[in-house]
Amino acid sequence: MHFVRVRTEERRSLKCNKCRVWRFLKIKKYKVVQQGIEIDFVNFPVLVCPKCGKECLSEKGENELRKFIRLAKSKNTNKLEVSKKYIKDFNKKKFFYKGSLEFDYCYLDSEFIPGLRRFSAGGALIPVFFKIKVLLKYLSDPQYGLYFSSDSYGHIYKGKHELISFGINRNNKVIFWYCDLYKLQKKEQHYLISENIRSDHDIGSDFYIAEIRAEYPKPSKEIQLEGFRAKLNNKFGKRYKFNLYTDGIENIRAIRDIIKPIIWNKKWVKDTIQSLHLLHIESLNEELLKLEITKLDSSINLKNIDGSINLLKQWLDLRFKKLNSQTIVAPLYALNTFRNIFSHKKNKTRYNKDLRKICKKLNLPENTKNLKVIYESLIKELTNSYDELSKVIKIRKSTKV
Ligand SMILES: [Zn+2]
Repeated sequence: MHFVRVRTEERRSLKCNKCRVWRFLKIKKYKVVQQGIEIDFVNFPVLVCPKCGKECLSEKGENELRKFIRLAKSKNTNKLEVSKKYIKDFNKKKFFYKGSLEFDYCYLDSEFIPGLRRFSAGGALIPVFFKIKVLLKYLSDPQYGLYFSSDSYGHIYKGKHELISFGINRNNKVIFWYCDLYKLQKKEQHYLISENIRSDHDIGSDFYIAEIRAEYPKPSKEIQLEGFRAKLNNKFGKRYKFNLYTDGIENIRAIRDIIKPIIWNKKWVKDTIQSLHLLHIESLNEELLKLEITKLDSSINLKNIDGSINLLKQWLDLRFKKLNSQTIVAPLYALNTFRNIFSHKKNKTRYNKDLRKICKKLNLPENTKNLKVIYESLIKELTNSYDELSKVIKIRKSTKV
């Protein structure tokens, strides 16, 4: 039973004001007492915080409640039960665009989820939900491009033209706006509708931040990592007069291709890891690292140093005596092994052995098998390494060592 009145801002926000996590809409039994009148909804859309469990009505929900309070007063009763039919009838106000296929959506979302209703005169801003695999076509078909502005806000292009934007919610479901879908060609709609699923009433994502609140969402972890790599390269250029990476045209393509895997199986993780490998390992400037190592210690036999990561480690050891170079390069070793595991995927023993090796380098429990967990840790550790190295270079520059 709910007695407490909440502030209007809370009704208008999709985030819980206490936990700051996205709330979702739940159609549930809801009993409330206002002005001494008890209203008992058999089914009603309520905003729920998944963290603290607090429930609250949206602005629209509160307005609907007031209607029933007035109705109870007019009937001179202090108790009213609102049947299932009320919500069923409400949801029948479905909106249909001419030229659109009959996508499955829940009309209640557009009315009761904060932020959607103010645009939805005529039912314009309705979220439509899809299985995550709907995106696979746009990843694999060369006539399309799929780009992420952030972890949960993406765009599909056809040639140079943006076809549609989408979001990915925390349940790994893809969301498009109905008002964007109906404008697509019929054959595109036919493909999409095959992956259309029922609404889970949960639209909290960067898609919501960008498209409803008109705020720029935080770039994806992959884009942030690229920023750290570019910053490090820039510092090397300024401080040591050489570029740590040799970035060519294929690197620009790789940066464009780095998309957090959408489906966490070996096939999809492999492509992302391949692009990361190209940018972070194959692009290391081996020739200049060899030259710089010789400048710092001419007695070192370069033939004994195998591969670009070991060259970088050797250079770091010579240049920064107090730096723990092993920690800095550990995620690079992990990335290298990560790339290799896909080439011997049929040999399970070797695969598991390498997976354990990767986990050790990333300070994860050695029995971790979840590729998503390993991948996310790799991105985090690479970012940390570059950040740490960038800071060291800055200190040495200011002290003119
Ligand atoms: Zn909460």
